[in-house]
Amino acid sequence: MLPVVVIAGRPNVGKSTLFNKLAGKRAALVADTPGVTRDRKEAVGMLRGREVRLVDTAGLEESAPETLYGRMRASSEAAVAQADLVLFVVDGRAGITPPDAHFADWLRKQGRQVLLVVNKAEGRQGANAALEAYSLGLGEPIAVSAEHGDGLADLMGHIADHLPPAEELGEREERPLKLAIIGRPNAGKSTLINRLLGEERMITGPEPGLTRDAIAVEIHDADGTRIELVDTAGLRKRARVELPLEKMSVSASIEALKMAEVVVLAVDATLGLEDQDLQLARLVEREGRACVIALNKWDAAEDRNKARKAVSDRLETSLAQMKGIEVVTLSALTGQGVDKLLPAVRRAHAVWNLRVATGALNRWFEGALERHQAPLVSGRRLKLRYITQAKARPPTFIVFGTRAEQTPEDYQRYLVNSLREEFSLPGTPVRLQFRGTKNPFAESGGDS
Ligand code: GDP
Repeated sequence: MLPVVVIAGRPNVGKSTLFNKLAGKRAALVADTPGVTRDRKEAVGMLRGREVRLVDTAGLEESAPETLYGRMRASSEAAVAQADLVLFVVDGRAGITPPDAHFADWLRKQGRQVLLVVNKAEGRQGANAALEAYSLGLGEPIAVSAEHGDGLADLMGHIADHLPPAEELGEREERPLKLAIIGRPNAGKSTLINRLLGEERMITGPEPGLTRDAIAVEIHDADGTRIELVDTAGLRKRARVELPLEKMSVSASIEALKMAEVVVLAVDATLGLEDQDLQLARLVEREGRACVIALNKWDAAEDRNKARKAVSDRLETSLAQMKGIEVVTLSALTGQGVDKLLPAVRRAHAVWNLRVATGALNRWFEGALERHQAPLVSGRRLKLRYITQAKARPPTFIVFGTRAEQTPEDYQRYLVNSLREEFSLPGTPVRLQFRGTKNPFAESGGDS
């Protein structure tokens, strides 16, 4: 999957010219996608050795609402939603207009990476506009002249620097989502896997040969997502030859979940969530995998309301590290509710992969620090300064500040919970690290 770069801004600021320049020779590849997106121009461009999908929102302006701002927003909303990076273009000759400011406000809330581009920036007027553009709060403006080609090499460098790493994008589409199903013996893992595969005979019949067990099993979700079931061979083989159910070995579970991105923890609803289940869930958390709980044997659960409540209470009290984890009630035996499982798996996977834009992250951070002041440590107030997302899979953030590494645990928990809520990160481990290293942006002389 190619990273998506969306060009947005008022009409006539030069979006299309910029689009053509960035797309270069490859502009010939521009295709009109039929349907709703008919007028959206897209091309594949090569920037600093990386292919990107460029989207020009200019074509969508015509049909949109009356106000200029309404038009800008309507034309960009869908495109921005799928953008890895947005180039917000303003007109250096016209200066910053109220619709620009309005749009910038909206854009800042979308949680996307944004580069602010001041086009038509040739001459003094352009330089002034570039200065003025700082007021939009979208970081440092990049001055270009799309028509004359000025500043484009620089812009391409900035774009390349702001794209998500290639490995991450590659994994998004080309590789199937890796899923492991773990659980205590008898929780119904094999039954569930059979159900998902829809191939009962593979296990009960004489076929297929042993070698096929080693092949990773892939299922295609209703929406086309490829999902690979990790380490099902052992489970399937065991079921076929009807070995007695040995005590589940934790190390086997660890092996399986290490290979997985998302883990389904199968829990026997007739027994409820027991210590062993929680142990496994903590293992998933420790390994940094996304998790969904399959509350199985729902057909046999006696008092469903009670069972459901018991499980959610237990999760609340004993599994705070995975707050918001999804619980899917189902019956592997009858198939009831099994269709809800894979969509939940995909949601967990998406959250696990999430990247939050640095701007949005720090606006939340400031607010969080205001709502609850950082505590005193040995009589001095902690000075937490900024936060950045170091990686996804699972979402991992680093908080920088003077003596940040001394942040007490309850305050860390407060930040994690608030972060989870603000950016909707349920059911995934969230890592928050604290670094007391010197902040490069701190005022000189420091105050530590
Ligand atoms: P595993 O050890 O986790 O792989 O568990 P199995 O899939 O072998 O299932 C253990 C037992 O539970 C078998 O007798 C299954 O028929 C039964 N079982 C599995 N799923 C369900 C279910 O949804 N409802 C009921 N009532 N029984 C189930």
